[in-house]
Amino acid sequence: MTKFEALGLQKSLLDAITDMGFETPSEVQEKAIPILLESETDLVALAQTGTGKTAAFGFPLIQKIDSDSRTTQGLILSPTRELCLQITKEMQAYSKYERNINVVAIYGGASITEQARQIKRGAQIIVATPGRMKDMISRRLVDISKIDYCILDEADEMLNMGFMEDIKDILSGTPNDKSTWLFSATMPKEVSIIAKKFMHSPQEITVGAKNSGASTVQHEYYVVGGRDRYPALKRLADTNPDIFSVIFCRTKRDTQKVAEKLIEDGYNAGALHGDLSQNQRDLVMNSFRKKQIQMLVATDVAARGIDVDDITHVINYQLPDEIETYTHRSGRTGRAGKSGISMVIVTRSEQRKIKAIENKINQKFILKKIPTGMEICEIQLYHLANKIKDTEINEDVDAYLPAINDVLEGIDREELIKKIVSVEFTRFFNYYNKSKDLNSSDSGRDRGEGRDRAEIPTSGAVRYFVNVGERDGYDWMSLKDFIRDTVGLGQEDVFKVDVKESFSFFNTEAEVTQQILDKFTEFKVDGRFVNVEVSKNPGGGGGGNRRRSGGSGFGGGYKGKRSSGGGRRDDDRGSRGRKEGSSESKGRRRDKSESSSPNSGKRRTTKRKGDFF
Ligand code: ADP
Ligand code: MG
Repeated sequence: MTKFEALGLQKSLLDAITDMGFETPSEVQEKAIPILLESETDLVALAQTGTGKTAAFGFPLIQKIDSDSRTTQGLILSPTRELCLQITKEMQAYSKYERNINVVAIYGGASITEQARQIKRGAQIIVATPGRMKDMISRRLVDISKIDYCILDEADEMLNMGFMEDIKDILSGTPNDKSTWLFSATMPKEVSIIAKKFMHSPQEITVGAKNSGASTVQHEYYVVGGRDRYPALKRLADTNPDIFSVIFCRTKRDTQKVAEKLIEDGYNAGALHGDLSQNQRDLVMNSFRKKQIQMLVATDVAARGIDVDDITHVINYQLPDEIETYTHRSGRTGRAGKSGISMVIVTRSEQRKIKAIENKINQKFILKKIPTGMEICEIQLYHLANKIKDTEINEDVDAYLPAINDVLEGIDREELIKKIVSVEFTRFFNYYNKSKDLNSSDSGRDRGEGRDRAEIPTSGAVRYFVNVGERDGYDWMSLKDFIRDTVGLGQEDVFKVDVKESFSFFNTEAEVTQQILDKFTEFKVDGRFVNVEVSKNPGGGGGGNRRRSGGSGFGGGYKGKRSSGGGRRDDDRGSRGRKEGSSESKGRRRDKSESSSPNSGKRRTTKRKGDFF
C-alpha cells in the first residue's frame, strides 16, 4: 500500500498520482486529506507556498464529487487569473481517470460568454477569481446555490488584494451547510475574520510555524527581455496600487536612473544611494516612512539601515552579485508578522540564478507572468471602486452640492457610476490598450537580444563563453587546464580554447554541457565569480563588437573593483556615465505605447525630484 493509498484515496486518483510522479504525500496533504475524506467539516490549513496545498484539497474534492450529477458542487476561489488557471490544470490532471468530471476556470480578462458556455455544459467544479465570479453570479450565468464544498485558496493573498467584500458576497449566496476549506500561507487578521464569520468550528492544521520569520515572504520571479525591465517594473507597480516597496538596483547610477524615470512617469518614487548627502538621504527616508514615497529605489549598501515594518514588496530590479545579499533584500518585507512579497525581474539567461538562490534560502520561487495591460486595467478598476466606497465623505462638499446637482442633472445612477469610474479608468485603458506581452519567450530572443543565453544543445560540439581572459593571467593552455580540473574532465574534453583580453571561449561535447554549467553556477576564484554560458555564436567568439554582460546578474565584474571589460558597472557617476545613461535610456524607448505612464500628470502628491536633488 502506498502512502497515498493509506490516506484513503480511491484507485482512479492513485493512478493519476502515479502518472504525475508524486511518491509521498507532503505534510499538508498527509494531514488534510484524511480529515477531509472522513468527515464533512470546515477546515483551516496553514502551510507555506509550495507545500502542495492544491492537491491537499484537490484530491478529496474530486473523490467527494458526484460525477453522475452535472450540478456545480465545488467552488474554488483563488486570487489571480494565473493561479486560477494553474489550479484548473492541476484538477484536470488529478481527475483524468474519473468519468465525466468537468472543471471550469472563471477569471477576468477573457470572454465571459465563452466561460458561461462552458459552465452551461455542466461543471461540477468551478475554479474562479472573486471579481469575475461575482460578475457571473450577478448576471445569473452560474448557480452556486447548491454547492457542497467551497475552497478559499491562498486566502491571505485574496484578502491582501482587496477581495474581502467580493468573497463575502459570493459566500452569502451559498448553502449554509456546505463545507468550507480555507488554505493560506499566513493567518493575518482578515483571514481570521473570514474564518470566524463564515466557518463552523473549523478543524485547524498548521504545517511549520505560524507566521514565522522568513516564511511570511513569498518569492516570485518574472522573466522578461533585457530591455523590458523598466516597463515590467511599472506594470508590477500598477498591479499593486497600494504598493509600499523597496526596489533594488545593482549600481548607484541605475538606482538614480530608475528613480528618476519613475518620478517622471508620475509615481511616488525616491532614490537612496551613497552619492546623496546625509541630509538628502534623511529627507528621502522621512518621506518613505510617511509613505509619501511608495517606491524607494535603493542600492544594497544604502538600504542596509532601513527599518520600516510594513513594506509590502521588495523588487529586485536586478539580482545582486551575492546570494547572501538576496536574503537581506527580501528580509526587508514580511517583518513583524506581516506577509510580504519579494519579486525578481530576470532575463532568460539569468534564470538559473533563481535555482541557486532557492537552494541557498531553502524556499521555492514561483514563476509569475507580468500582467497584461488589460489585467492591470481590471485591477485598477476594482481598486478604484473600492476606493470610492471607502472614501470618507467630506461634509464641506455640501455647500457646493446644489450647483453640482445642477450640472449632473438628468444623469441616472448607473450612468453616473460609469462616468465616475471612467475618469480614472480611461487613463489606464488608453495607456495599456494594445500594449504588448512583456513576458520573455515571445520577447527576448525574437527581438534580437544578444544577451540572452542560447538554448542548451543536446548533441555535437558546444561553444561556451567564460568571463575570464588574459588580464586574469590565462592563456589557452592554462585556461584549458583550469576548466578541465575544475569540472573533472579528461585530457581531450576541452578544445578550441580562444582567450581574449577580458573573456574567452572554449568548446566541449554536448554530453558534458550540463556538468559544466552546474559547476560554474556560483563558482568563485579569489572571491570573484567565474561565469560560463553557452555561447550564442557557435562558430566563433572573435566578434570584437560583442559586449558581454560584465555587470548583469551574478555574472562578471570584480567585486569591489571596476570591471574594465564589461563597462556596465558604473558605480561612480562621472559625467561620461551620466551622458551615456541618458542616451541609452532614450534609445531603449522602443515601445512607444509604454514609454510614458498612465500616471503622467497624476499621483504627484509627493515632492518632485527637484526637492531632493
Ligand atoms: P502550494 O499551493 O502549497 O503553494 P502547490 O499545490 O502549487 O503548492 O504545489 C507545489 C508543487 O509541488 C507543484 O508543482 C505540485 O505539482 C508539486 N507537488 C504537490 N504535491 C506533491 C507531492 N506529494 N509530491 C511531489 N510533488 C508534489
Ligand atoms: Mg497554492
